[in-house]
Amino acid sequence: MKAKRNKQVKKILGFYENNFGFRLPYQVLVDGTFCYAALQNQIHIADNLPRYLQGEILLFTTSCVIIEMEKFGSKVIGALLILKQFGVHKCGHEKKAIPGAECLLSMLGKRNERHYILATQDKDLENKVRQIPGAALLYLHSKTPILEKPSMASVSFAKEKVAGIGTIQSGELKKLKEAHGIVEENLKKPRKKKIKGPNPLSCMKKKGKKNKQNLKANSETTELPQKEKPKKKKIRYSKHIKDEIKQGNLVVVKEEAQKISSEKHG
Ligand SMILES: [Zn+2]
Repeated sequence: MKAKRNKQVKKILGFYENNFGFRLPYQVLVDGTFCYAALQNQIHIADNLPRYLQGEILLFTTSCVIIEMEKFGSKVIGALLILKQFGVHKCGHEKKAIPGAECLLSMLGKRNERHYILATQDKDLENKVRQIPGAALLYLHSKTPILEKPSMASVSFAKEKVAGIGTIQSGELKKLKEAHGIVEENLKKPRKKKIKGPNPLSCMKKKGKKNKQNLKANSETTELPQKEKPKKKKIRYSKHIKDEIKQGNLVVVKEEAQKISSEKHG
């Protein structure tokens, strides 16, 4: 359970580190309600929170928060003593104190640019903090500190930031392509041809079959001239010459035929 919780806390802190620039030591801004709940549940803030956040922390409050707590009197004296142990951030209300929650919201500003983790048990304040992108929220669930998952405001702000970087990168890529004379359409066309073309593997198989057939055909054709050649070599004699051969007068006939042909040409 503890390992799972640590992993989850690291993931949340990682989100704030990557998207909003949170760094160690984490600055935890504490209000009176958180100190009060910690005392009730016997939680030692300065010991417990660094362990929970798995890193060094700095604990702060403001003079407005202290002044507000002092107004509650002896009921919250223990919580006030804890609060006074923490550093006091200048809030700009030193001349005239304002309600603690308002002061803390002014410390966070519109973007929580000082990267505070706000520790409070004040539900109204929590709801207002959730509207601020990059504001981390910590509260106690009985004895267990809970670092709340990033609010919708934080998540959507981070997404927009990433999307913004994406469009800039694609824009720069287009410019680079144009600079090098690469037209996107030209790049796409050969890809389409590749897709439309037949599967090279299927071609291989077909060719293989064809090759076998061709080989057979070739073997047949190579045999044919061998058969034809002797035929061509054979001298075809007309019937009367064949009769002469049978009679054994072949040589005479040949000479006579040559004579006849020479006489005709001569
Ligand atoms: Zn103040």
